[in-house]
Parts: sequence; C-alpha cells; structure tokens
Amino acid sequence: MPTCSHCRQSFSIPEEDLKFYELVSPLIGGKKYSIPPPTHCPTCRRQRRLAWRNEKTLYRRMCDYSKKPILSIYSPDKPFTVYDSEIWNSDVWDPMMYGREIDWNRPFFDQWNDLHHAVPLPSFNLRMQNQNSEYTNLSARNKDCYLIFASNDNEDCYYGTYLHRNHRTVDCFFTFDSESCYQCIDTYNCNRVFFSEYCRNCSDSALLFNCQGCQNCIGCVNLVNKSHYIGNQPCTKEEFEEQVKNIFNSAAAFQAAEQALQVLILQHPHKAISGHSNENVTGDHISNCRNLQECFDVTHDEDCRYCVWLHQSKNCYDCYGWGLTGELGLENHLTGNGFYNVQFSESCWNNVSNLLYCRYCLDTSSNLFGCIGLRHKEYCILNKQYTKEEYEALLPRLIDHMRRHGEYGEFFPAQLSPYGYNETVAQEYFPLSEAEVRNGGWPADRSAAADHASALLRQGYGGQLLLREGWNWRTEIDEVPKVAKTVAGSQLPESITDVPDEIVEWVVACEVTGKPFRITPQELQFYRDMGLPLPRKCFDTRHKERMSKRTPRYLWDRKCGKCGQGIRTSYHPSRPEVVYCESCYLDEVH
Ligand SMILES: [Zn+2]
Ligand SMILES: [Zn+2]
Ligand SMILES: [Zn+2]
Repeated sequence: MPTCSHCRQSFSIPEEDLKFYELVSPLIGGKKYSIPPPTHCPTCRRQRRLAWRNEKTLYRRMCDYSKKPILSIYSPDKPFTVYDSEIWNSDVWDPMMYGREIDWNRPFFDQWNDLHHAVPLPSFNLRMQNQNSEYTNLSARNKDCYLIFASNDNEDCYYGTYLHRNHRTVDCFFTFDSESCYQCIDTYNCNRVFFSEYCRNCSDSALLFNCQGCQNCIGCVNLVNKSHYIGNQPCTKEEFEEQVKNIFNSAAAFQAAEQALQVLILQHPHKAISGHSNENVTGDHISNCRNLQECFDVTHDEDCRYCVWLHQSKNCYDCYGWGLTGELGLENHLTGNGFYNVQFSESCWNNVSNLLYCRYCLDTSSNLFGCIGLRHKEYCILNKQYTKEEYEALLPRLIDHMRRHGEYGEFFPAQLSPYGYNETVAQEYFPLSEAEVRNGGWPADRSAAADHASALLRQGYGGQLLLREGWNWRTEIDEVPKVAKTVAGSQLPESITDVPDEIVEWVVACEVTGKPFRITPQELQFYRDMGLPLPRKCFDTRHKERMSKRTPRYLWDRKCGKCGQGIRTSYHPSRPEVVYCESCYLDEVH
C-alpha cells in the first residue's frame, strides 16, 4: 500500500482506479502518456481541491480594468489582476496577450503560477444571469437574493448554500423546490417548514427530522403522511397552535423543544446512506446513481469515485462540482455544462474537452494545456497558440518535464491557490490553525514539518514547491458597519412582535463570536410574516451550525443496528445514532 505524501497515512489504489487513470491518460499522436497513480490519499486530494474553492468570502475592491468599485471573491491585497466578471466575459481584453514559451529550466507549476499572476481573473466564480443579487457567488438565474452561494434559480432567498429553485427561503443548506422555509437542511419540496432536516413534501411544521408528507407537526422524527403531531404523538389543532406560539416567542421553550427532538432522533433508526434509487454505491446523499464509490451530494451519476456535488456525469474521479453533464473527468474543481475528458483543471465549463491543467478555460475550448482564461481556443500551452502538429510534439516533452519535477498527475498545489486557506471551503471541511496552514497543512511543529519535507524530497516528490513557504492564510478584517446602535444578540426581543422597525439600522453582535451582523428590511419582513424570532448569531456561525448537523464526508464500517450486516456509512461507529442498512430501514420506516 502506498503512503500518502501529504498525511503519511497508507491508502489503497484499487485496480479499477489504475484502469481509470489509464483510460483518461492523454493520447498524443496515437501514444498514451500514462497518468501516474496519485501520491495523495483521496482525503488529501479533496482537501487540496477545496483550497481552490472560495464559495462565500466576498470583498470590496477595484476592478483593475474599469477602476470602478466592485465586489469580488479576491480581496484587494491579493497580487492578482481582477476584472469585473462582466468585463472579463467580454472581448475588451485578450488573454492570449499573456501567452509565453515553455521554459525547460523551470518546473511547470512555477511557470503556470507566473501566468496565473499575469492573466486577469473574473471578480466572481461562475455567476450568470442573476438579477438584483449582487452578494452571491457560484450562482445563476437568481432574483432578489442576498448572500446565497452555490445556488441557482432562487427568488427572494437569503443566507444559504446549495439552494435550488426556492422562493423566500432563508438560512437553508441543501434545499430544493421549497417555499417560505427557514433553517432547513436537506429539504425538498417543503412549504413553511422551519428548523428541520431531511424532509420532503412537508408543510406548516417545525423541528422535524426525516419526515415525509407531514403537515402541522412539531418535533417529530421519521413520520410519513401525518398531520397534527407533536413529539411523534397525535395532538389537537389547539395544542399544535399553542406549541407554535410557545416555541417562537420564548427562547427557553424553543430550546426545550429542540432538546426533546434530539432525544427522539436517537430513538429512531437512520439510513446508512441517505438518498434513493441507487445501485451499488457508497457515500452519502446519493440519488439515482449507479456504481459509485465514496461520493457525496451527487445525483444521476454513473461509474464515479471520490466525487462531490456532481450531477449527470459518467466516469469521473475526484471531481468537486458540478457536471450537468460531464464525462471522463479526473481531479477537477468546478467543471460542468458538458465537459469531456478534462483533468487537473479548475473552473472550466461549457462544452470543453481535452483540457489539462487549465483554469477558467471556457466555451468549447479543447486541447489546451496549462492555460488560463481562454475561450473558444485550441492547441495552446501557457496561453500561447501552436499548430496541432507543434502542440502534439511539445506535449510529450512537457509531460516528461513535469514528471521529472513530480508534477504530472498532481492537482495544482494548495500553495498556488489565489485564496487564503481560511477563505475557502477547505477550512470548513478540514479546519486548520493559522500555524498549520502556514506550515503547508502539517502540524505546527516546525521540525516535524521539516522532517516530512525532506522525506518527500528523498522520494523525489515536487522538490521546488515543497521548499516554499506553506499555504496561504488570510488575516481576517471584519468591516464594522457605521451604525446608530449595537445590540448584543442575547438582548434581542424573544418575540418578533416586540422587534422595532429601527432594528434594520442597528448592528447585532453575534452571541457566539461577537461578530457584527445586520438584519435587512427584507429579512425582517420574512420573520414577521412567518412569526419567527430574529437570529442571534451571525451568518458564519449559523452556517457552521448547519454544517455540523450533517454527518461528515467520510465513511466508516459499521454493522446494521437491526440485522447486523456490514454497512458503510458516514455515521462514525462511536456515534449514538441507530443506523440501519437500506432494507431494514425501508421495512421499518415506510
Ligand atoms: Zn493523505
Ligand atoms: Zn458568529
Ligand atoms: Zn439491516
């Protein structure tokens, strides 16, 4: 078993993985240039990709083209040229101007890094056709939305990630086709459902866990098609209404109801893999998939491994986002809308094919290697145009060159990421201290890190890059808004009826982190219409708390709590939940 060159744990590379690497290895002039087996374990590979995903850290800065103030995922102090996304997407500039020859005396990643610092970058990552939704990223076709990320086709939605086709839905995470929902996670087709998880087709309910087709229920678990239930017991209409009034007008009553729900959750079985209509899959949050291993938050995929948030794709390994559709992808972040045969690339979309080591190469681009910001181009290396013959003659030589530097077969190193590690989703799933990040993701103990580096050098791995400083860290500077009044979160009125209109001019200090946040007028109207109390925690804290309610994106071996057969699940064996295999679960719950 090989040892991961990053975390030093041993990991397996199954035969099928090796076959896959061979399948996607570039074919140049009839000859295969085999992609070597990975040096990083699947977990470290995912961490490295996520260090390239800044979902929701936004800054005010200047557009380097128009010199106008803009919002951007790149902070103003970053050594990159950043154009307003609309300008970047237009023809007023030419990315080929930055093209350069290959320097055979320097490692490839060093040269790519130079190009990356020269070519202008778009202010946001993949933002299209939004209306009045300036504070969004990785977003398309949203209208009147605020601080939503990785979200499409929403209207009047605020504060959330992975939201699709919702209306007036606030503070949700992985929520689809829902209306007037608040603080929901993994929710589908619900209406006026609050503080709930894993619900489908429910309405006018709160504090539900894994319920389907329920109405007027509070604090229930695993119920199907029920109406007027509290704590899994039938209640009268009056009792239900009394409980609604209680929990949304008294913080203590809400807390008690929440605690009762947690107790109930532990008394009911959980499914080993959440999702439905799958065949031969491992992972979690999987629906309508076949032959998947270690995949999370995926739908309609086939023959994929180690993928996250990928849809309608086939034969992809190590891809994070988004497919719709894609085929033959290896180690990509954010490739979609019809990609074919794309490897080790970041943010490439719209019918791109045969790309390696590209970033922001779009719109039918094909046969590109190490390019940034190209559209409708082919046969380019480091943004320099070649003929097909020149390209095919150079590529084998470049691949050999990269192999000698331990670069070929590796995704872009995290230290080349344009973001601070703590600005990215890597920090959410693999939290590290500043010292660890500055030490390249290794323990803060300098001598342990130096040992590690020299051991890797002896193995001939990526010498030049390892000798550099560690990964990037962004020292956070919170913009404190100038306001009339600051109020502590814990001092906010418990009932929405006691909240004055002026609250929108104040700043609230998060009751957990002290971080200042505001209540927008639209948001206040939402809480008033729904009869919900104001949040007492800032957006980041709310997001973190939602994340912590989901199981992690790891798998462990466990035994089904009923029949005892082996299952692979994201519930760690030491967790108190009762976990069932698919068939035992379906026997009991439906
Ligand atoms: Zn590892
Ligand atoms: Zn906070
Ligand atoms: Zn079972």
